[in-house]
Amino acid sequence: MQRIGIGIDIGGTSVKMGLFQEDGELLYKWEVPSRKEEAGRYILEDVAASILSVLKEKDINMDSVIGAGLGVPGPVLPDGYVGVCVNLGWRDINPRQELSRMLGGLPVLSGNDANVAALGEMWKGGGKGYSDIVMITLGTGVGGGVIINEKITAGKHGLAGEIGHIHIRDEEQEVCNCGGRGCVEQVASATGIAREARRKLAAVDTPSRLREFGAQVTAKHVLDAAKAGDGLALEVVETVGRYLGLLLAQLSMTIDPQMFVIGGGVSKAGRFLIDVIEKYYVEFTPISEDKAVIGLAKLGNDAGIYGAAKLILG
Ligand code: ZN
Repeated sequence: MQRIGIGIDIGGTSVKMGLFQEDGELLYKWEVPSRKEEAGRYILEDVAASILSVLKEKDINMDSVIGAGLGVPGPVLPDGYVGVCVNLGWRDINPRQELSRMLGGLPVLSGNDANVAALGEMWKGGGKGYSDIVMITLGTGVGGGVIINEKITAGKHGLAGEIGHIHIRDEEQEVCNCGGRGCVEQVASATGIAREARRKLAAVDTPSRLREFGAQVTAKHVLDAAKAGDGLALEVVETVGRYLGLLLAQLSMTIDPQMFVIGGGVSKAGRFLIDVIEKYYVEFTPISEDKAVIGLAKLGNDAGIYGAAKLILG
């Protein structure tokens, strides 16, 4: 009998789910909306009902389901407890226990969504073939995940992998979402890159194709213009790449992974961006020739369901 693991990735807009073979082959994926009304109290019920209905439709017996893994968009303690999850409205809840109960005692394991996505990329994505990776997701914010020996390193306070909030820039005056100043997220997220471009456009009057976008300039505008050789856009990319290179060097000397996997919308700039990061990473790690490779994530929005399935499939 073929045995199945279920991967669940809870997001602020939708919950993605997938049925996986033990070897990691994705058999079927689907999603349901995240109903956030009444402090998100219906989300897990919807997930459980949807899983039961899909299993029935696919004629899969509960006995052949090994369990489910769950990615949660917020801090998760080692026992699955979630004190607060702003994105969903959850407070004081153990989603892992609740979902298990709703699914008739099915084993459920959980983790923070960024960490779980990193696990997915290690298993079947950009980090396939490696056991030790750090994933950095450059999206609206900056997320991260640390995988050592094929396991998530969540830390003792849920802080491990919060790479976006490592302080990296002393002169920053604006306040980050976390309350700090000078976080990685403030310079290397899509939002941060656009802001960096606005600051540069205001500070100098050199011609640039970015000027036509004014305050509406986006990270994609910056990266596209830099690729096309726009001087001001290139300066922005150099700034971003330098901070990311510095970050990766510090992470290398802390945990020395085999690979850094770069994902998120900003990573669509591809090898062009990686090359800039790598230039500075090499500059900041003269201590050894032999160090982590830097590459791109491959699973996109499916990384979360892959990683969640890996949680339960071991
Ligand atoms: Zn921060």
